Order: sequence, then structure tokens, then C-alpha cells
Amino acid sequence: MPRRAIEIHGTVQGVGFRPFVYKLACDMGLGGFVRNSGGTVAIEVEGGQESLDHFLERVVREAPPLARIERLDWSPRDAVGEEGFRIDGSDGGIGHSIVIAPDVATCQECLAEVFDPGSRRYQYPFTNCTNCGPRLTIVLGAPYDRSRTTMAGFEMCAECRAEYENPADRRFHAQPIACPKCGPRLAVLDSKGISIETSDPMGWLAAALNAGKIAAIKGLGGYHLACDARNANAVGELRRRKQREEKPFAVMAGDLAVAERLCEVSEAERELLVSARRPIVLLKRRPGIEVAEGVAPRNPTLGLMLPYTPLHHLLMKQLEGVPLVMTSGNRSDEPIAYEEADALERLGGIADLFVVHDRPIHVRCDDSVTRIVGGSESPIRRSRGYAPQPVGLPFVCSRPILAVGGQLKGTFALGSQQRAVLSHHLGDLDHLEAFNAFRRDIGLYENLFQVHPEVVAHDLHPDYASTRYALSRTGTTLVGVQHHHAHLASCMAEHGLKGNVIGVTFDGSGFGTDGAIWGGEFLVGGYEQFRRMAHLRYVPMPGGERAVREPWRMAMAHLMDAQTDCQPLANRVAGSSRRTIARMMERRLNSPMTSSAGRLFDAAACLAGVRDTVSHEGQAAMELEWLAAGTEDKGEYPFEVDETGTIDTRPLIAALAKDANSGLPAAVIARRFHTTMSQMVFRVNCLLRKATGHDRVVLSGGVFMNELLVVETARRLSDAGFVVYCHRAVPPNDGGLSLGQLAVAAARM
Ligand code: ZN
Ligand code: ZN
Ligand code: FE
Repeated sequence: MPRRAIEIHGTVQGVGFRPFVYKLACDMGLGGFVRNSGGTVAIEVEGGQESLDHFLERVVREAPPLARIERLDWSPRDAVGEEGFRIDGSDGGIGHSIVIAPDVATCQECLAEVFDPGSRRYQYPFTNCTNCGPRLTIVLGAPYDRSRTTMAGFEMCAECRAEYENPADRRFHAQPIACPKCGPRLAVLDSKGISIETSDPMGWLAAALNAGKIAAIKGLGGYHLACDARNANAVGELRRRKQREEKPFAVMAGDLAVAERLCEVSEAERELLVSARRPIVLLKRRPGIEVAEGVAPRNPTLGLMLPYTPLHHLLMKQLEGVPLVMTSGNRSDEPIAYEEADALERLGGIADLFVVHDRPIHVRCDDSVTRIVGGSESPIRRSRGYAPQPVGLPFVCSRPILAVGGQLKGTFALGSQQRAVLSHHLGDLDHLEAFNAFRRDIGLYENLFQVHPEVVAHDLHPDYASTRYALSRTGTTLVGVQHHHAHLASCMAEHGLKGNVIGVTFDGSGFGTDGAIWGGEFLVGGYEQFRRMAHLRYVPMPGGERAVREPWRMAMAHLMDAQTDCQPLANRVAGSSRRTIARMMERRLNSPMTSSAGRLFDAAACLAGVRDTVSHEGQAAMELEWLAAGTEDKGEYPFEVDETGTIDTRPLIAALAKDANSGLPAAVIARRFHTTMSQMVFRVNCLLRKATGHDRVVLSGGVFMNELLVVETARRLSDAGFVVYCHRAVPPNDGGLSLGQLAVAAARM
């Protein structure tokens, strides 16, 4: 009888791997044992040669849904004549680094129990098993066991303990195991935090929502604010109280049928919606749907998600098909509330009632946002359900690395060996609370994954909170990475690219090596270094950051640069304001120079007549895209590229302003501008291919979240023989920056 020792690497602990192996081996009549060993699963198995081959195949093919096998090694052993199969205790191993799984949506089996009147977990909102439930959000430290989760305070009842200890049970070592007898409970509070006695909290909540109330609901990674998405008054009131002017709200649909009633859902989109990650998926709205206009004003898309906890399932069932607004529990741009006292304080003025529970959330984790672009997933915010799933690297980190990301849409990354662990979304680090979570969660991840960084990579911007944090990490080697170089490296790393590529990085802003604000960049390089080969012509950004909220300022800057004017804009903006801006630029007062593509889109949107001011960054550019996407027009605008690689936008602006002056519809101008931008990327790439011989192009930066631009540009480039790479694993925006910084630092070690 042959015997084999098998070692399995990857996300294999805390995901029901050992009971799965146990059951498989028993079914196949094989002897041996399975145990956790360090961060891996070790198996020894004995039986017929053919069964052993078959066993290996099935371990890989039938692995539990949450497991991610990265590598499987095996070697022959001497037979010992073992017949039974057993689960051994962990051998401790060195470094208890567990690849902790992301939080996972309720599985089918748990769901069936929740709706089975005969089950002891009937209607229990905290039902979970080894295949589903909270993970990252409840973990306090390593190794991952119940005493180091926020479930530590709940003592298991005899029945739960029996399931927990039974290798054949679906809940064997399910750390968050719970039941109505021993687990967390729901409570309903009024807006002042005074508890409301009810035997049916879910019925109560559903009735309140049906009556147009706004509820704060504690979920997996934080609080949601919820209201009836069809009720225009409730939605309007939520906007007013939350001080959120126009940024779209996400909507939870009870099931796929409701989702398909509201939006068009392709095969790929359906897969994302029902996946265990359960992200918010941006979908095309059906015309005249029942959702109130205020949910996503003027927006042709809707961010939809399906229920992902038993609590959501129970609630949506009660609501019988009513879609709910489910938006982060915060005021305007603050971080999402996740602790009860804080939620009551910050959301008390917004919510009419609270539905809370006593399972603490340790790691705040927002919903992920994603969509399908050109047939494949393209993430916008990678958080709950995704983090901290590692990304495989095309190189080895010779020393452990921490990369701290940017300032907005903060994430960090930990790299060791051939793997990068990317954090959940931390929000904008200029909020003290977000920054505190950033610091704390870096410590948590270092502990969980047993990575002790010797190298810290950061942005070059001296005022980013993440940069200041990096500088405070004494005793480490610091590596400063230029913002757009990090974007380039991020896209390369997720595709496993090596060597040099052309990197087109279009975004809002990033600190340039010349002190200017970059953002319309054509780089050539790899992980180690880059050369800036071409960029948009510099224009002043009058008022600095204020120009982000007031695109008319950028329009003025471009008009002055092109020495042209735009009558419709002049009619909209007061002469005194225009003169002030003109003086500011002439005297170079608070007017940093920028090559930002994001700001060029803003200027174009304003000149086309779309918007003069915005309530959130990129809003004008997005509306310009929607207009363009709905229009056919063959026109385009001229631009020039000089021998230094400066792309002269003055002819473009002059022609665009002329169109605006002649009263051409905004949609036509929008379309022409988009065509021009993709033509620009194409032409510059042709020049760079000629000069350098490179034909691989990565498209990165927040501007490439523009679907029309990215699809059109990729098509032009591929048609001409370029190999084009777009982001598929991490966001093109600054949420993906940490991965790129990590790659650059690893290459420089
Ligand atoms: Zn389950
Ligand atoms: Zn129990
Ligand atoms: Fe950026």
C-alpha cells in the first residue's frame, strides 16, 4: 500500500478544509490524517495507487467554496498500515500565519435552515457555518480561533459545541458558530438609542421601512442606512439628513428576479451578483423603473446588491420584493460607523430607528463595488468579500514589504514571498477616524499574516497622511514611489507582467517628480524604473483643490491657455469671478501647474455645458461620459504632440469652445471629446512604439474607470497590434495604488 504526504498552501485554514478532507478520505476508504500546520494543511494518506491519484484530483476539484489552493506538493512515504482517517490537532508549526478568508455571504445550506420552521436556527439572523459568515470583520488576532474573534464573549451551548467538535459536521471549527440559545441577538432602538420592546424585530423593521422611515441597520462590516427605494420622500429625506447631494445610493434587491426587473443583467453580471462575495454591481437601469429618481440622479446605472447575511434575507423576505436603499452609515464623506455608541451619535440625526446586535465588528469593512467592462470584472472598490484575499505576484519579495497607498480611497498592501495581501477599503485618510483605522488595521494584518515589514513603500506626496505614517516607521527601509509609476506597476503586477511596458496613467492628481501635479502621463518602464515619455500640456489649476469641486475654474484655465473664449460659459459665470480667476492665474497665486487628464475632462464637461460645479470628484466627467455614450458622431478635435512629448491641448480646447459657441448639443461635444481622447492615447502609443519597440500597454488611473474611454481606446490599440491590459483584480483608481508601490519596492530590493 503506498502512502503520501501532501502539503497544501493557500487560503486553506478557517474555511472548512480539514472536515472536507476527512469526509473525502472516509468516503474513499483511505487511512491517515489531516492537520493544520503553520499556514498550510498537511495530509498523510494511505491506500491503493489509483485511489491516491483520484484523491489528489478530488481534493483540488471539490475543495470547499472558500478555499483557494495556491500550491499542492506531495511526496511518497513508507506505509504504516493505517486504516482509519482522523483529524489531528494543529502541530503549532512555526508562524501561525493563516490566510484569513474574506467575509462570505450566507450559503445555501444555512439559508435553508433559516427558513425551515423545523430547524433550531429558524429565523436566526446570525446563522453561519465553515462555508459562510463573518471572517475578517470579527477577527482580533492570530491564530484564527474563537477566543481571538469578537465571538469570544459568547459561550457555546451544548448543541453548538457538539457541532463545533464533530469533524463530520458542516460547522466543525466554524469560529463564529451561534444559535438563538447562545449567540448574538437583535435589538431595536429608537433614534435616541432607547430600546423598543418587540418580539419580532424584523417585522417591526419591515413595517417601519414600508411606512417610509429611515433605519440604521448593523451589518457585517458596519452600519447601513436603509429606506424604501421607491419612496421619493424617504429617499429625499435620507439625502438631506445625510448631507449627500447627488452621489448615487446603492440598492439591495431581495433576489435575482427583483434585480432583473430593475436593471439589465448579463450572464457575467449575474455571476457577480450571486457570488459569495456579494458586491454592489453597477448595472444598466431599465427605463421607467420603480426606483425613485433621487436614488441615483441622472445616472443611467444603478448599484445593486443581493442580501448577504441571514438578517438581510429575513428582512427582504418580509418586504416582499420592495428594493431598499442600502447606503453606508455615515454623514457625507465620513468613514462608515461600526460601533454602537458612535453609530448612535453620528446617525442619530439621520435614522428614525436602529436595528443593532451584540456581535462586535472589529474591522470596519465597506461593501465592495464592481462592474463588468468589456466582458470581465473591473473593480471600483475592493473591500468586503474580497479583502484580504491575496494577489499572486510575478516576482518574489526578498524582504517583507508594507505599501501604504495614497490619500483618497486608502488601502495598504503587505507583501511576502510571492504574495500580496491587499487590505479592505479604508476611505479618505484625511479623516482622523479613517487614519486611525488605517494604523490599527496595518498592525492587525501584520499579526494575522505574520509579516513584519522591513521595507515600507509610500507615495512621494509629502502631505499624504499615508506618507507621514510611512516616515514614522523607524528601523525600516523607506521607498518613495512616484504616484503614476505605482499605477503602472499595479496594473502590471495583477497581470503578472515582467519587463517594460508603455503605461498610460490618466487620473485626477498625483505628485510629480518636478513638483507639478501630474495626471495625464505616458510612462515607459517596469517595476524598477520609469521614464516619462509624454504628458498633457501643463495648465494652472486656479485655487488648487477648489478647482476639483468647481470645474468652471479648469475651463477658464484651459480657455486662457488656448487664448480663446466660450460665450455660453461667460454668460453663466459672473464677470467678477472670471476676472478674479484670471488674475490668480496671471500672478500664479495658489495655481499649481497640472497635466491632469481628470481636470481636462472636467474642463471639457463644463465647456460642453454639462456642469460648472460638482458635489463629488469626477461627477462632471461622468455625466459627460453618459452623454457621449448615448450619442453617435464621427467628429473629433485636433491636438498636437511636440518632440518633447508635450501634448498640446490648445487646438482641442479652441475647437471644442467653437462647437459650444455655435450651440452644438452637449452630447455631440461629449462624444467628439471622448473620441479625441482615445485617439490621443492611440497616436501617442504609436509614437512610443516606434521610439521604444514596446507594444504592451497598461491603462491605469481613475480616469480609466470611464467605460466608453477604456473600451474605445483598448479597441483602437488592439486593432493596431498592441497588447492592452486593463485592471481586473484591483481598482484602476487610487484604491489599487498600494499594490503598485509594493511591486516597485520589491523590484528595487
Ligand atoms: Zn453556511
Ligand atoms: Zn448554540
Ligand atoms: Fe491616482
